[in-house]
Amino acid sequence: MATFSKFFNTNTNITMLDDLIPSMGLPAFISAIVLCCVGFYLIRKLSVDTKIPVRDSSKNHNWSTIEVSSKAWYCSICDMFLVTGIGVFCDCCGVCACPEDVKKANLKLPCKAIVSTNDVQLHHWVKGNLPLGTICYICDEECCLEPGLNDFQCCWCQRTVHTECLDKMGQVCDFGSFRNMIVPPSCVQVARRKGALNKHLLLRAVKDPGWENWTPLVVIGNKKSGNSDGAQVLSEFRKYLNPVQVIDLSERKPQAALQWCVLLAPRPVKLLIAGGDGTVAWVMTSSYKMDLDVRNQAYKKKI
Ligand SMILES: [Zn+2]
Ligand SMILES: [Zn+2]
Ligand SMILES: [Zn+2]
Ligand SMILES: [Zn+2]
Repeated sequence: MATFSKFFNTNTNITMLDDLIPSMGLPAFISAIVLCCVGFYLIRKLSVDTKIPVRDSSKNHNWSTIEVSSKAWYCSICDMFLVTGIGVFCDCCGVCACPEDVKKANLKLPCKAIVSTNDVQLHHWVKGNLPLGTICYICDEECCLEPGLNDFQCCWCQRTVHTECLDKMGQVCDFGSFRNMIVPPSCVQVARRKGALNKHLLLRAVKDPGWENWTPLVVIGNKKSGNSDGAQVLSEFRKYLNPVQVIDLSERKPQAALQWCVLLAPRPVKLLIAGGDGTVAWVMTSSYKMDLDVRNQAYKKKI
């Protein structure tokens, strides 16, 4: 108790400082302070790097330019037909916009929420721009037979439905056929990065939803590799999974992706590495360094 109170006695602290400076010399003392500060920031930076920055989906959509495709695209705000290379689409939720309506779409149309406080997930319907040949979940007839912004798709379960059949759909979403790979937004806990210039969210914890056979999938790729194939793979998985499960190696190191395995331990996590031998080796080496139990399952395309 006495020792404890000594640390809170300011007089004692001043005496200690006075004693310290002459014995070390002022330049050495300042250098020690600077070294301590540098060390502190390095440790802080390194510890942040292993955390997974998360895009704040409540602010903007994750826009990509619309490439040439056989499907017609329409602006989700003004219904205008979008000419290839001019319009943009969100690869998370499927909302599209002409250049004039990008801001409006960010403000008015919510993106796929990566975090939620609601344990019950509701369908998140996005109007129009359905994939070609999709069938209505209610009446089994084809959707989007007429040009324009018609019918709806849920960006979580991917079910499609006619505008006139929407009322017959329940409100609760079961995440569809990929449920066992998806991390529900209610299981994701994030923290806001304090003091940083870019206000990213950081993945803090992931709860287990308690579903039988739930093995979340984490996709790792590099959007800058393979003639933009990497970007397409990442985009495609953002549509089917919770976008936080998709890690771009052009922005993050593999350790950040592997942090998922640490957060979800002892639950196994499936990693899909979309890249060449170099990328796979990079991720594997990092996983050994992080002392993760790796069971390889390599699949090669048959030719
Ligand atoms: Zn528009
Ligand atoms: Zn979106
Ligand atoms: Zn749904
Ligand atoms: Zn229908």
